[in-house]
Amino acid sequence: MFDHPSFDGHEGVHAIHDPESGLRAMIAVHSTARGPAAGGCRMWPYTDAGAMLTDALRLSQGMSYKNAMADIPLGGGKAVIWGDPRKDKSEALFRAFGRAVEQLGGQYVTAEDVGISVADMAIVRLETRHVAGLEDGAAASGDPSPVTAEGVYRGIREVARRLFGTDDLSGRTVAVQGVGSVGGYVCEHLAKAGAHLVITDIDADALQAVSARTGARIVAPDEIYDVDADIFSPNALGAVINEQTLARLKVRGVAGGANNQLVVPEMGELMRRKGILYAPDYVINGGGIINVAAEISGHYSRDWVAGKLDTLIATLGSVLDEALSTGQPANAVADRIARRRIAEARPAKEQVR
Ligand code: NAD
Repeated sequence: MFDHPSFDGHEGVHAIHDPESGLRAMIAVHSTARGPAAGGCRMWPYTDAGAMLTDALRLSQGMSYKNAMADIPLGGGKAVIWGDPRKDKSEALFRAFGRAVEQLGGQYVTAEDVGISVADMAIVRLETRHVAGLEDGAAASGDPSPVTAEGVYRGIREVARRLFGTDDLSGRTVAVQGVGSVGGYVCEHLAKAGAHLVITDIDADALQAVSARTGARIVAPDEIYDVDADIFSPNALGAVINEQTLARLKVRGVAGGANNQLVVPEMGELMRRKGILYAPDYVINGGGIINVAAEISGHYSRDWVAGKLDTLIATLGSVLDEALSTGQPANAVADRIARRRIAEARPAKEQVR
């Protein structure tokens, strides 16, 4: 594992096997320098254990960076369960997973991710208190999507301000990929601000509903990359910025909520060379984790969330400014700031010990 290309000094990688329930999982703790390692649990039918390890290593590092940029007192971790979420779920499996989380003694806090529902987490909660993203309980934070979407909308305006000298979006065209929980709210904010919307999704009902609410023009999923727009906002899948799609994009900015938008980090430099300003995904979409952090703190406060979201948007603004003034890709600037924040937290934590 120490030679693995995605290994980045992770504090711990735990492999879990529970023969009774069939649970095979990994919990990767990338860093607890800034606080307990927080990050969701993903359930996925991986082809092999190697693919599972790569996902756990990459996603947990990503959470450290995201939490550092959101300036919340959390480190980064991630859990992955090997299985098909449509067939392999059981109470015994999630209880076994909950016991594994509990054994880490609060070093890792779990929540929902791809393939995992609020109901699954309610079972995990029976075995451990180190769970967030619940629907009930004193500090429950509920659906993080509206906060994520507000951050994405404000991030789009930050990008526009630097590209066009104003963050007024009236008359600007935004191409939105994915109109699910986050994308749907993003479209509503944009429509209210007077932007022209071009939207796509693979879910025809969601498309019709969002189009009816916002007046958006609908295009087929593959056509979204060819739209004559000012800004492209990916809010569906990862890896949507690759050499093929970049060659087609006619936009000046990319700003959306989807995780892992770049197929490889080098796409950031290729975008810069093409004159596209990119809002790094794990910065612009940090609103959701801020909402979850409020729950983890044990006393959810709307004002605290609003304050942290303001700071996050200011941080995004400084990342964009530094990228533009130094000629670096914005994702490289963000990575460096995140790594510095994690490194600076380490000595402080060691002093407390
Ligand atoms: P969601 O499942 O509600 O919405 C995703 C939408 O994308 C769905 O409507 C789906 O039909 C559509 N989609 C799937 N494949 C597509 C394709 N090929 N072309 C076009 N559309 C397609 O999920 P969500 O919660 O809105 O999350 C969207 C993205 O934002 C994900 O990458 C997620 O990891 C990221 N994200 C979400 C949050 C949050 O608070 N929900 C926070 C941070 C990051």
